[in-house]
Amino acid sequence: MDRCERTGRTPVMKCSVCRGPAGIRAPRHNAAFCDLHFREHFLRQVQRAIESRDMFREGDSILLGVSGGKDSMVAWEILTGMGLEVQALHLNHGFGPYSERSEEVVRAHAARAARPLEVRSFRGLMGVTFEQALRVSARPACSLCGTVKRYWMNRTALELGCTVAATGHNLDDEASALLGNVLHWQTGYLRSRLPALPEGEGMVRKVKPLFRVTDEETRLYAGLAGLEFVEDACPYAENVTTHYYKGLLERMEREFPNIKGAFYLGFLDRLLPGLSAEFRRAEHEMRRCPECGYRTLREGRCTVCTLKERAAGSPGKPDRAPPA
Ligand code: AMP
Ligand code: ZN
Repeated sequence: MDRCERTGRTPVMKCSVCRGPAGIRAPRHNAAFCDLHFREHFLRQVQRAIESRDMFREGDSILLGVSGGKDSMVAWEILTGMGLEVQALHLNHGFGPYSERSEEVVRAHAARAARPLEVRSFRGLMGVTFEQALRVSARPACSLCGTVKRYWMNRTALELGCTVAATGHNLDDEASALLGNVLHWQTGYLRSRLPALPEGEGMVRKVKPLFRVTDEETRLYAGLAGLEFVEDACPYAENVTTHYYKGLLERMEREFPNIKGAFYLGFLDRLLPGLSAEFRRAEHEMRRCPECGYRTLREGRCTVCTLKERAAGSPGKPDRAPPA
């Protein structure tokens, strides 16, 4: 039998599409693929995700958050390859070597492929470092980082005239976040699990085109497409509950192929439609920040404006280095 070009081993599997030697097993789809047909299959999944949720419309201009990790690098390539108008935004959080390396990888790709890229720093946007913001915030690092990222994605999109903000969140991200939300019955967060959130006053549409593909599939695709990406985990991301949930779902997936898809995609199809009244009610309770106009549940300024104000007024203790 022919040797698999990817692994160099003699394959025992046949590609479900061309019946040629297959190096890639896809138990979740009850299939196996050669490199070429895996790429086609992956692209079809992304296309299906985009179409099923009506993510992009004629004349849209997309702001894609690019971290330098595999997911956003893959999304960058695929959306651009589809002929969509994509502007990338990289936020440098100032996490030492990790952030330096991430910015380097993103800049190198933009230069090589001649893609528009905007780079902003946490300090430049917030007026304080991440450490300083963390000290005055009651939130854990990942929650603070996520809030600030979402806020600046929206604000930068509006500033640059983009109509949609896209991120590289994949099936593992969404399934693990959903598991966390459900375990604690955080029903107020369920709306954020939608792969496409419609635009509103002062808010651009938000989409997650990779919501149908897994971590592993995206890593494989990035490798096959020859994309350089940062493998290192964020120095703050250790012991985060989400990682625990991700690991748990991965273990379950090995026993029960496609359990992640059944959980998250099943939630989208079966449970979400019934929640629209709840979402409308939550929407109704939203206010606007008097400082920046961002939507908020708070009565006064939004979380980010409050944080900026508090951080600016706090005594400037020297920063600690981020965890190694
Ligand atoms: P994460 O929460 O790190 O898994 O990131 C989820 C998504 O948010 C990524 O796929 C990116 O689209 C976006 N993102 C994360 N970090 C950054 C960053 N530093 N700059 C721009 N976008 C980011
Ligand atoms: Zn605000």
